[in-house]
This record gives sequence, C-alpha cells and structure tokens, in this order.
Amino acid sequence: MFIDKATISVRAGRGGDGAVAFHREKYVASGGPDGGDGGRGGNIIVVADDNMSTLMDFRYKRKYTAENGMNGQGSRCKGKDGKDVVIKVPRGTIIRDKETDRIIKDMSDSQPFILAKGGRGGWGNMHFATPTRQTPRFAKPGMEGEYREVVLELKLLADVGLVGFPNVGKSTLLSVVSKALPKIANYHFTTLFPNLGVVYVSEGVSVVMADIPGIIEGASEGAGLGHDFLRHVARGRLLIHLVDVSGSEGRDPIEDFETINKELREYSPELAERPQIVAANKCDLLPEGSKLLEEFRDYVKELGYDFYEISAATHSGTQELVKAAAEKLAGLPPIKVYEPDYVEPEPVIDTSESVEIERYDDVWFVEGPWLEKLVATVNFSDYESRMYFDRMLREAGIFERMEAMGVKDGDTVSIYNLEFEYKS
Ligand code: GDP
Ligand code: MG
Repeated sequence: MFIDKATISVRAGRGGDGAVAFHREKYVASGGPDGGDGGRGGNIIVVADDNMSTLMDFRYKRKYTAENGMNGQGSRCKGKDGKDVVIKVPRGTIIRDKETDRIIKDMSDSQPFILAKGGRGGWGNMHFATPTRQTPRFAKPGMEGEYREVVLELKLLADVGLVGFPNVGKSTLLSVVSKALPKIANYHFTTLFPNLGVVYVSEGVSVVMADIPGIIEGASEGAGLGHDFLRHVARGRLLIHLVDVSGSEGRDPIEDFETINKELREYSPELAERPQIVAANKCDLLPEGSKLLEEFRDYVKELGYDFYEISAATHSGTQELVKAAAEKLAGLPPIKVYEPDYVEPEPVIDTSESVEIERYDDVWFVEGPWLEKLVATVNFSDYESRMYFDRMLREAGIFERMEAMGVKDGDTVSIYNLEFEYKS
C-alpha cells in the first residue's frame, strides 16, 4: 500500500492561574476572598475532512500550539479560556503515539477528537473560604496543557486517475507535477499497480494522482486486479485523459481517444462516467503544418470536455492542468471509500502512575493524570460508583500517604473540582 506519513508535535494551552484577591469597598472593613479562577488552556482538536486526501500540509507545518488560558482576576473574574487549535486531516488518517507506536485514534468517523487537552485553570481563592478559614491566601496555579508527538499515517487513494495509451506520457506527467512519490510496499501486482504521486497545488490543497496503466492493459488481458487497486479506481473522482497529439508514433489522436473511452466503458461503466479533463500531450513535437492538434481540439471541445494543451517533457502547460484538476475536484462530491482497520483502544486507568499530594492549611490537593480520567468517568450520585472511586484511591495508597502527612478528619480533599471531607 502507499502510505503517506508525517510526524507532528502538539501542545495544548496551559491553564491560567487562580487569583488571590479580597473584596474591597469603601466603608466595608474587610471583604471576603474574591480571586477568580484561571481560564482553561486551548485544546488541540483533530477533525476528519473529506476534501483532503494527503498529509502534504504537514510537511510544511509540524508544530501546533494552542493558546494558554488567562489568569483569574479579583472580583471573581474568571480568566478567558485559551482558543482551541483545530487540525484537519484526511478521513482515514491514523494517529499513533510516536514513542510507543500505539494507535491513539483512527480518524474515520466525524467526531472531533481531542488530541491534547488544555490544562485546567487553577481555582481562585474564592473557592477556599470556609467558616473557619475566612482569608485563604492561596490559589491554585493552572495546569500544564498536554504535549504529544504523534505520527499521522494515511493510506493514499487516488483522486485523479491518468488514463491513456501506453507511451502517451502518463508517467512523465506524474513525475513532473508531483512533489512526492510515496514508497511502494511490496505489492503483488506490481506491474498493474498505479503509480501514485502527491501533487501540491497550494496551501491546504493537494491531490493524489495515479498513473493507472493497468486499467486498460490489465483489463483487456483479464488480469486479476487486487482489492487495493479497485479501491484506487473507486476513489478516483476525476480522470485526466492524456493523448499524444504529435503523431510521432503514427497514431491518430481522435481514434486513440475513442478507443480508450470504449475500453473504459467495458471495464467499468461507472468509471467511464467520471468527469474527464482531456490533455493533449507532446505539443512540443508537433511537426510544422500538422493539423492533428487542431482537429483533435475541435473534436473534444465539440463533445464538451475541458481541454488543455501541454508538453509534459518541457513542463509547458502542466501547472495549468493541475490547477484545473484541483478546481474541478473541489466542486465534486467526495467519495468515501475507506475501511477503518483499527479498533480504538480503551482508555486505561493505571493506578501505578504517580500522584501528587499538596497541602495548603487543611485543604489537600490530590492530582495525577489517571485521577483526572477517573474523576471524569465516575458518577458521584451513584453509590456503587462512589465506592469504586474510593476503592481505587485506597488501592493506590493515597489515603495512607495522606495519613502519613498528617491529615485529620474534617479536612477538605480536592481532586479535580471534586471536593469531599476526609474521614478516616
Ligand atoms: P506512459 O507509458 O504513458 O507512462 O508514457 P511515458 O511517460 O513513459 O512516456 C513515453 C515516452 O514519451 C518517454 O520517452 C517520454 O520521455 C516521452 N514523452 C512524454 N511526454 C513528452 C512530451 O511532452 N514531449 C516529448 N517530446 N516527449 C514526451
Ligand atoms: Mg508509464
């Protein structure tokens, strides 16, 4: 298979710090704590985009950073949340952890996926007032945003198929316009397999072009075409029909054009229905006084095709052809041909990961990555669920550690926005 790959790093925003502030007003002796919370850091979100078909853009931009949350302010003002960064990837892109190679997500569905979570804003001191602690002089700092290095992987499928007789210049055109020729993993039907190229048109616009020698030659010989091959054919939304108009091999352009179209219809009526752009190649070889090009142009235009004159060998007209193909593609509905190959892994809660315990007066902050996941999954209005939560904390030895640090009954335990009273 042809695999497009890119390695990127993503950093979500840091949460803003909570504020330490006290209410002040004329003629009011001493107000309560009113330091607001920090804002949440921006997330890095990935979404599948049906109009993209390559990972080309990630060759140019490899680092993504979301905005930090703002710090909280006095008067209970919450800091502004950081803006999310949305990364668009072609549907079917697999996201792997760079270090472990584990699949993080298969971007085959349409759900936006949070690849790196912004840090939570710290609580301002207004949260920490209790009847016995009226002037809390502390607030929580914001948390770091997640950082990840990931590998994006995509099986390339062609958007544009090049068709035409042997030797008309298909391979030449492909090599001239493509920025990247993906590696070919050992493929069984090598001789029938399309040659793929990634054509960069402009930012956010790149298309996969395939020189498909096998369509015609293979089909007429009844050779077995693999499943992968068929996927390419099915995905191709547009055909560029290349014709040698130079007469250098003694061929007639109009006849060639009709023969190929006839074979296409026999091979796959569906494929024959795909929009075609006709490109007259080898214009540089046209002999003086030849009428071949003119006659062919008139013929094709009469039939209503878009028509381009090029010379793949001298690169003349090739960029115009590529741009026209990209524009035409943008107006065509996407064809969704992909099969999710992977099952998404369950989120793992690993209680052996480290947990930090911090103490401010009689408030205990307990934090750790797995705890955050745990809090998110537990339903605290449900007794069973609460017991499960309690058991997890016990198993991880958190209460033991707190006892060793001197926790007393009635102290407040704060775990990611969840607060309860400690009772031994
Ligand atoms: P394919 O069989 O359709 O893939 O054709 P190729 O790309 O292999 O080209 C066949 C021959 O035509 C090669 O020798 C190319 O160098 C030559 N060729 C392709 N395009 C042009 C062109 O625009 N002008 C000239 N003069 N030769 C070309
Ligand atoms: Mg070729």
